[in-house]
Parts: sequence; structure tokens; C-alpha cells
Amino acid sequence: MFGERWLVRRRSYSWSERAILAWGKLRRYYLLRYRPGYVEESLKRRVGSCDRTGACCKLMFSCPLLSWLDQLPLCHAYKHRPRSCTIFPIDERDLRDRDIVDPWDSCGFSFLRPGETQEEEEKSRQVELVFHV
Ligand code: SF4
Repeated sequence: MFGERWLVRRRSYSWSERAILAWGKLRRYYLLRYRPGYVEESLKRRVGSCDRTGACCKLMFSCPLLSWLDQLPLCHAYKHRPRSCTIFPIDERDLRDRDIVDPWDSCGFSFLRPGETQEEEEKSRQVELVFHV
């Protein structure tokens, strides 16, 4: 499943993608520091769990604390990692950012739209997977 994900599936980024990734880092810093209420509300809509793709550790650049063990990401500061790591993804924009880094595998997290139930969200995700929309 994780196979050659990071050995072969590397990509270079356009300037606009780099700008999006840089902006994402600033956005997360700002949200965590100045908009805790927004973060808390957004996390209430978050469903799923980490699939250990390692993509969020490679936003803009590969974190120097990241290594790979048995083709799974390993954080050398896991117990002391920064809040931006523990809380990722804050909202859909973070999913968009991590999809730039790893468009092949989706994040295990997703966000419910207002009024949407988890079952409805799962169905729409399956449709997206089948039709690649
Ligand atoms: S500190 Fe750990 S969790 Fe955070 S980006 Fe680096 S490797 Fe990933």
C-alpha cells in the first residue's frame, strides 16, 4: 500500500503551488495563535483519522525530523511536535495544501459541510473516488 510512495512519487512544485504552501504555513500559524475559536469550531466538523501518508510533514519542504521506517513516516519529535503538526488539518484548505504534496493518496481526514452527516460525507467521498471528481 505504501510501497514506493515517497521513493518514486516525488514531484516538483510550480511557483503558484509553492506560494499556496507557504501561505498555508502562515495561515495555520495565524489561526492557531489568533483564532482559537475558529480552529475549535472547524475541528468539530473534522472526521476520520490519520492515514500516515506523511504528506503533512512535507508541506513546502520535508521536515528534518521526518524519516521513514518500513515505508511509514516516523516523526523524531512525535511526543514534542509542534501544535501545527498535532492539529493538522484545521480545515479544507489544509487538505488542499496536502493534496498538492501527495495527489495520489487522500488524507484520512475530511470535513463535514454544514448540516451534513458523517454518512452523507462518506457517500460523497466514495462517489468522488469512483468518478475522480
Ligand atoms: S515535527 Fe514531526 S509531525 Fe511535525 S512535520 Fe516534522 S515530522 Fe511531521
